[in-house]
Amino acid sequence: MFKFKHQYLLPSPKFGRVGLLSAGPGSPATATVESLDHPNDDDPEAFPTQDHAILETSNSQSLDPSFYLLTLPKCKNAPQIKQVHSQVTVNGLLKNLVIANKLLYMYTAHRAVTEAHGLFCGIKEKNSMSWSVMVGGFAKNGDCVDCFRTFREYIRSGDHPDNYTLPLVIRVCRDTTDLQMGRLIHQIVHKFGLHSDPFVAAALVDMYAKCKVIDDAKTMFDTMPERDLVTWTVMIGAQTECGSANEALLLFDRMQEEGIVPDSVAMVNVVNACAKLGAMHKARLVHDYISRKKFWLTVVLGTAMIDMYAKCGCVESAREIFDRMGIKNVVTWTAMIAAYGYHGRGREALDLFSMMLMTGMVPNSITFVSILYACSHSGMVEDGLKLFSLMQEGYGVRPNVKHFTCVVDLLGRAGRLDEASSLIKNMAIEKDEGLWGALLGACRIYGHVELAEETARSLLELQPENAGHYVLLANIYARAGKWKDVARIRELMTHQRLKKVPGWTCIEVDNKIHQFTIGDHSHPQSKEIYEKLKCLCNKLELAGYVPDTNYVLHDVDEECKRGILYTHSEKLAITFGLSATPEGSPIRITKNLRVCGDCHTFIKYVSLVANRLVIVRDANRFHHFKDGACSCGDYW
Ligand code: ZN
Ligand code: ZN
Repeated sequence: MFKFKHQYLLPSPKFGRVGLLSAGPGSPATATVESLDHPNDDDPEAFPTQDHAILETSNSQSLDPSFYLLTLPKCKNAPQIKQVHSQVTVNGLLKNLVIANKLLYMYTAHRAVTEAHGLFCGIKEKNSMSWSVMVGGFAKNGDCVDCFRTFREYIRSGDHPDNYTLPLVIRVCRDTTDLQMGRLIHQIVHKFGLHSDPFVAAALVDMYAKCKVIDDAKTMFDTMPERDLVTWTVMIGAQTECGSANEALLLFDRMQEEGIVPDSVAMVNVVNACAKLGAMHKARLVHDYISRKKFWLTVVLGTAMIDMYAKCGCVESAREIFDRMGIKNVVTWTAMIAAYGYHGRGREALDLFSMMLMTGMVPNSITFVSILYACSHSGMVEDGLKLFSLMQEGYGVRPNVKHFTCVVDLLGRAGRLDEASSLIKNMAIEKDEGLWGALLGACRIYGHVELAEETARSLLELQPENAGHYVLLANIYARAGKWKDVARIRELMTHQRLKKVPGWTCIEVDNKIHQFTIGDHSHPQSKEIYEKLKCLCNKLELAGYVPDTNYVLHDVDEECKRGILYTHSEKLAITFGLSATPEGSPIRITKNLRVCGDCHTFIKYVSLVANRLVIVRDANRFHHFKDGACSCGDYW
């Protein structure tokens, strides 16, 4: 009689002979992929955790395949699987393909890929399942070379790949952004006629999107005979990621038309698209939809909505969502703190941060970036510096370049340029363009030409192609009246064929987005806009506005400079907004670059003279203009 050694102790009493699966030796492999569950760490019925406590069997059990099929899913680690493996071998059951595949799966699920591969090579008559599990095992382990190699062998073996294996391999292409391999696999998909399979097609859409070939993703998506929720979600997410947030929102509209009911994951993608676009009107519509359909405000969806409202310029709505959320995690708190930060509401950010600490939530590295950013953008120097040391001493968070950037900005804003520059000099970590950019920004505000030159040199070493840095330096020279240096920079830019990114400003009126560029005459109401702008400027000048011609790079006479200033895109957009929106309602604009100093002053006077709240989202932050002042305190 065969008896196991004593080290194989009795596991739990509930583990015995339970309902049998029909899988005798040599019986066809019928197990489906779904039945191969992942081992669950939280399983209350889980096995004892000792490595050597997995099997105690009677003689009749040891020869029964179903016994092993039931035992295997309960294994908690590779040594336990190995035990079962060796007993299966001893009992001659390894030729049972169902058992062999299950063993293989368990090894891969526990990332014991070497053991899995050893077993795999020993299986003489592999079926689709064996190949799938092995390919998937390498995929899950991030071993793309072996994954692709095994997949190639699979194809050569003459077996037909299925709609389980193909998405796995396609996902590896996605994760490694290996477009070439992705296209090859797409050909295989075609060869086996699986291009209309929803799983395969969805994976292909996802892969093309991640590889940034959005047109291929779109073609694939549009030709799919059936699109399920997952595919729609993938496509909406892809459009958002590839920068066409507007397309993403159009897709969302189409999805309803087609009767597909979005779930919370799909809604998160839609919400993210609104955030990217900064489209307040759309954001409200999406919010209405979420309320109407009674979506549960999960942590992820709620946090995405906070971010959406913050980026659309409405902190109050963001806070409402925050307060309504039952469960908040550190990301939620951080998003709300960041929201206050963007909008220059440092005091509220600090209050929220204290509240967070009181609830026992532990801030992470990103939370500290958000709170330091909030302090710097509200000029709360001492608070910021205190938090910077609290972060290191109280929470053991090691400052990274982002934290340093906030502190440099903080000191720079307070005019403590020497401290800022010595902080940078003594930093042990690698410096990036954001950090130098913060210092250069401070130099601009304080007209510190010497330090600006030094900083710009470091900045241009990192990013010689970025026209923005040259422009900033040229502006600093212009302010100091150093027109020769301005000309030198311009020449340098022409010589290197660097072009300024063209500036534009967007305004959303009646659910339509109107875009303006400098000196734009393309708008259908262009003529009226210019007439109104002229009239408006006269009114503003009476109220005390003096155009700051230092912000014009050309060395031309004053009258001409004024002409150029007057046609900046934000001025055109605001003039249009004043007449196209109801009196007294806020005007929201989005600018792709930093707002120039003159436009900033101009908008301050608009908020006073026209008695309007003007909210500007520029490349760096939000400005809330009210009663002749801006929330940024003129530092941006
Ligand atoms: Zn301007
Ligand atoms: Zn401002």
